[in-house]
Amino acid sequence: MTEISPVALAPAPAAPQTYEVKTYGCQMNVHDSERLSGLLDGAGYAPAADGEQADIVVFNTCAVRENADNRLYGNLGRLSHVKEERPGMQIAVGGCMAQKDRDEIVKRAPWVDVVFGTHNMGSLPVLLERARHNAEAQVEILDSLDVFPSTLPTRRESTHSGWVSISVGCNNTCTFCIVPSLRGKEKDRRPGDILAEVEALAADGALEVTLLGQNVNSYGAEFRDKGAFAKLLRAVGRVEGIERVRFTSPHPAAFSTDVIDAMAETPTVMPQLHMPLQSGSDTILRTMRRSYRSSRFLRILEEVRERIPHAAITTDIIVGFPGEMEEDFEATLDVVRASRFSQAFTFQYSIRPGTPAATMPDQVPKEIVQERFERLVALQDRISHEQNRALIGTRQEVLVHSLPDAQHGRFSGRAEDHRLVHVGVAEGAAVPRPGDVVSVVIDDAKPYFLLSDSGYSIRTTRAGDAHDRSQADSCGAPAAGPGRVPAATSLGMPTLRVGLDG
Ligand code: SF4
Repeated sequence: MTEISPVALAPAPAAPQTYEVKTYGCQMNVHDSERLSGLLDGAGYAPAADGEQADIVVFNTCAVRENADNRLYGNLGRLSHVKEERPGMQIAVGGCMAQKDRDEIVKRAPWVDVVFGTHNMGSLPVLLERARHNAEAQVEILDSLDVFPSTLPTRRESTHSGWVSISVGCNNTCTFCIVPSLRGKEKDRRPGDILAEVEALAADGALEVTLLGQNVNSYGAEFRDKGAFAKLLRAVGRVEGIERVRFTSPHPAAFSTDVIDAMAETPTVMPQLHMPLQSGSDTILRTMRRSYRSSRFLRILEEVRERIPHAAITTDIIVGFPGEMEEDFEATLDVVRASRFSQAFTFQYSIRPGTPAATMPDQVPKEIVQERFERLVALQDRISHEQNRALIGTRQEVLVHSLPDAQHGRFSGRAEDHRLVHVGVAEGAAVPRPGDVVSVVIDDAKPYFLLSDSGYSIRTTRAGDAHDRSQADSCGAPAAGPGRVPAATSLGMPTLRVGLDG
């Protein structure tokens, strides 16, 4: 669908123009934003420096969060004043809100230049150009996928770790979720294309890949291969140079033993599983239209722990779904106690317009949701803390993600099981680069992270070299390398970032 609505635009300013992508919502959007940045790079735009007002501001929106539309229109309103003073500035809105609201956006915010949907991200540069040339807002929303988004150019946030989409959309119909109506039915990417992308990432220096899909273990449904995800995991695990393979998120209903076998038997598949529980009450799971029951969920965890005893298991839980009674919530607490998650991402249910749950009776009053939420968080924090404390004294291999921070002088990274580890640097000690791997012994543990302050050994990696190259490319400044303590001013990642506004 293509619609044109009027907007007064000034002629284009002299090149090169700068851009900023502001990202809301889930990991899928964060990865989409990497593609939007890659597309804009390819079209000759340059990323705006930190703190600098960009010529082109792209909002990659989310329709899931409460008040998502108020936040978007609030942000657009603020930007309208900036635009008045900057002739030639352009504003684009994409992502799920754009897919949902379509031409409503330019009606409510006529200073917006481009609205594009989740199925046609690749059109962004052309739409910006056309809006400028025609001095008219361009609204282009497709109802189904045009090009599989992973074929688009990508500017990746990290040189050591990459996200690789294996599917988009979802065939399930969870009643709280907007994805099926906005992202459409599941579309699976061909295994050869996925492997080619993983190999390209490895060639660029990445050590870690995370396979991404709304429901990764139903991968293959489109080409009728039930074992496709397990095969894919094994194949990705064999790609030379890739040391860490992860995936998110599987659905408990589709989780099969062949995937657990592939996880256990592929050394590069990390001992970690993120599997959304959502509720421990079978009554609520039924109204959520989640087709597994809590006993099945627990059986999968048991099987995973039998095969991979040191696996860290994380989950998502929604509190206060419509109709949730105290006994339903108690059932969730019971499953949480039995599951011993290393971490849970807990959400208070809020109405998401356009979802079946939004119009269900028996919405739970806010204060009850809050009170249950606090009980759940307290329980999970206690379990997380216990689990983390059990790792004190163990040796962990940490993939470094950041240089030391100014406040604590510690750098951070992820252990193989994906736990966050902060590592202290002794005075004069060599500092690893993001992408290098350090071997540490855990000295202390908090509910959300582990600490190590007793020294480390560094394994320099191709990913660390890639980080050096990206530093040099982005600012021409010498990068901090192993054996060098960076000056205070060089702390932090390169200036180029995809904005993440939550
Ligand atoms: S499995 Fe359910 S929650 Fe996940 S994307 Fe599909 S419909 Fe949404």
